[in-house]
Amino acid sequence: MTCTRCRLAGGRTQVVWMDGNPASSLMFVGEAPGFHEDKQGLPFVGAAGQLLDTMLGGIGLDRSGCCICNVLKCRPPGNRDPLPDEIDECRPYLEAQIRFIRPRVIVTLGNFATRFVLDRQVSISRVRGQRFTVNGVTVIPTFHPAALLHAGGASSPSMPAFKEDFHLVAQVLAEQPEPEPEPSEVPEDFAQEALF
Ligand code: URA
Repeated sequence: MTCTRCRLAGGRTQVVWMDGNPASSLMFVGEAPGFHEDKQGLPFVGAAGQLLDTMLGGIGLDRSGCCICNVLKCRPPGNRDPLPDEIDECRPYLEAQIRFIRPRVIVTLGNFATRFVLDRQVSISRVRGQRFTVNGVTVIPTFHPAALLHAGGASSPSMPAFKEDFHLVAQVLAEQPEPEPEPSEVPEDFAQEALF
């Protein structure tokens, strides 16, 4: 499937939809594909992705135990920040992914993903490591792995907090999930409403 909803269609190699296991209860949301993602068609396959894989390994997971998406599905030129109209045009895709996958936990990586999912103009440094609930889904914001790499990687002063956030993710996943309501208990208007 291809998309021409915004200007990014003109400069991309391919649309980057997702990686991992759509049946898992854990979803990561990043910002937008970079150079390697654009070439390979998969999210987080460059240096930031390697750090993400290491952090997943630290809590006993790999990509088969989660799914990974981005706010934007196409690479912005030169990896610039997503523009508001690009986010708006791409919005239906991530919203549909969340509705389809129905994760128990969403980890938002960096400012753009966190603002999208929480629908609030927050700053990642203020909200990281906290636990939010959005339409019944636990949302845990953390740093974008590329920001950690820019700040020195393993020796970044933010690394201990980043690790802590992944341990919080593991802790929340280990908690007993809330039972799903019986279909008959779901009010009709709620059942038909979009999750996000
Ligand atoms: N950064 C992102 O936000 N997403 C990717 O897929 C790669 C790098």
